[in-house]
Amino acid sequence: MSDSFSRSKLSAVERNFRSQIAQLASGRWFLRGNLSERSGKCGKANCRCAQGELHKSLYLVHSQDGKLRQICVPKAWQERVRQAVHDYHQMQKLIEEVSELEWKRLEERKP
Ligand SMILES: [Zn+2]
Repeated sequence: MSDSFSRSKLSAVERNFRSQIAQLASGRWFLRGNLSERSGKCGKANCRCAQGELHKSLYLVHSQDGKLRQICVPKAWQERVRQAVHDYHQMQKLIEEVSELEWKRLEERKP
């Protein structure tokens, strides 16, 4: 069976998935994890949070080798991190689509 890759043999749908992957890969940041908004008190007695106006913070969280990994995302990084998390999920979805098409070719023995 032939294992040479030929873009011209791909369906329009698959070419479209692959173009999206190439576009993302060349121009985006990627972060694996989920964002979690938390609010809490800083501990200073005279702070507004002591009156119930809690501080909001954003955490990036994921589990790796059974360990929870998390980091507080500073304000200046939040937009970039939100985008990177979103694009990581998007990339994962697209890779999954392309993988599924290859599964079908294998199942149907149609190279
Ligand atoms: Zn406070």
